[in-house]
Amino acid sequence: MGNLPWVTYWIEIADYAFLATLMYGYFKIQDKDRRIKDRLFQSANWDALTHVQNYAAYDRAIGYHFSRSLIRHNNLTMAMFDIDHFKCVNDTYGHLAGDEVLKQVSSTVVDVLKEKDEQIVLYRTGGEEFNVIFPGYTVAQAQPLVQEFFDRVKALRIPYNDVELNVTISVGVSSLHRTDHNPLDFYKRVDSHLYRSKKMGRQQITLE
Ligand code: GH3
Ligand code: MG
Ligand code: MG
Repeated sequence: MGNLPWVTYWIEIADYAFLATLMYGYFKIQDKDRRIKDRLFQSANWDALTHVQNYAAYDRAIGYHFSRSLIRHNNLTMAMFDIDHFKCVNDTYGHLAGDEVLKQVSSTVVDVLKEKDEQIVLYRTGGEEFNVIFPGYTVAQAQPLVQEFFDRVKALRIPYNDVELNVTISVGVSSLHRTDHNPLDFYKRVDSHLYRSKKMGRQQITLE
């Protein structure tokens, strides 16, 4: 060892330093790449306003739960709700007031669901329309939870500038039928129940 000239050691050290720098650079790029992918995934699946999952995430989730529930003979229930006369909020107090209502309604429903069962997820599937998937639930089992978020939204007082906003929702609930050919058949039935709640005067839940 003592026979090698010093310059050889310096070359070795320089090689290691070069390699270490390359590896550091490589891992830095990997990390940045992962963070960009995370951000893309986040924006593709989450709604920027309400911070709940969006239609794309709903579409994937319902496809998954639909197949899985049919194969395993598990229950599956879905609720869909729409804010009543929401256009009035925008027209009377402005679009930002409407945005505030959407945020508060979403977080209220998320709080109720989180308290009960982390498996139940809320999705913003349209402007002021939301779907809730209850994996493993019958309509009767989902009913008290739906009633709870319905009541909590109704009781909400949303401060906006110098007024307090108050909204209600109309809800449709149904469970998966063995005769549903695809997730859209299921969705349409839930939607028709929501439509019935609207038609019957709003601020109500239609279960079946
Ligand atoms: P209904 O009781 O029949 O549901 O009446 P509605 O007024 O709630 O329903 P309508 O479909 O007439 O109006 C929905 C409104 O929601 C129209 C649209 O401008 C508003 N909207 C959709 N997305 C957003 C949003 O992100 N922010 C705000 N502020 N408004 C939105
Ligand atoms: Mg609507
Ligand atoms: Mg509405």
